[in-house]
Amino acid sequence: MDDLSLLVDLHRDGPRQGPGGVEETRLAIRLSGLRPGPQLRIADVGCGTGASTLVLAEDLEAEVVAVDFLPDFLTPLEAEARARNLSHRITTHAASMEALTFADASFDAIWSEGAIYNMGFAHGVQSWRRFLKHGGILAVSELTWLTQERPAELTEHWQRAYPEVDTAAAKMAVLEENGFTPVGYFALSPRCWLDNYYRPLQARFAGFLSRHDGDPRAAELVAAEQVEIALYERHAAHVSYGFYIARRTAE
Ligand code: SAH
Repeated sequence: MDDLSLLVDLHRDGPRQGPGGVEETRLAIRLSGLRPGPQLRIADVGCGTGASTLVLAEDLEAEVVAVDFLPDFLTPLEAEARARNLSHRITTHAASMEALTFADASFDAIWSEGAIYNMGFAHGVQSWRRFLKHGGILAVSELTWLTQERPAELTEHWQRAYPEVDTAAAKMAVLEENGFTPVGYFALSPRCWLDNYYRPLQARFAGFLSRHDGDPRAAELVAAEQVEIALYERHAAHVSYGFYIARRTAE
């Protein structure tokens, strides 16, 4: 099994593939000012198995296009949409977030939780803007420093893993420089990392390792996740995902 297939196998059965929470998706919806209705059209980019997709379709009654480049994540999303009677509102689309082919000005909102880092925050903000209607909403969560002074091991880890990591002020400046007005911000609580993401992930490690008994890359993958989890647990006061809600300006 290749590395990507191992990652999929570890993450597919989780409630979500990154930190977040249903209540936090709902808070971002409230801050966005979006009003429910079937005319609303939303893209959920890097949707994974659809933790946020399902909330958007249910709470906003919106037509949601759920985009991920891994079909293995879209299949369980489709099954869950059927189980919740939301299939008529959710269309899955296997595509790279870096090469979206939607029509210009075709969405009321672009949503992306824990995924824009895959192409970089600034690059994502710049390239997705055209797909939004004027006044449309961009709602993205992104790794964010919560403090100005941080333990060196934390800064070094994330600078290496994701050099764009920065403070909320710097992220908002990127939004403002690229044709957006920030309308809301909050940081995800440690519960979103631990209860909603890391604990369920850790609970899957034993089964994953026994499915891939003897595969050193499976053991390496688990070890790397454990290192990241321990680092987060030591320094949760300094880093989180910031949730940025911004409106596309007129020009
Ligand atoms: N939004 C989901 C998943 C977050 S994990 C949640 O909050 O649970 C990041 C997701 O981005 C994964 O599902 C991964 O498959 C997807 N992804 C990574 N690179 C991508 C790319 N280039 N194009 C599209 N999706 C990508």
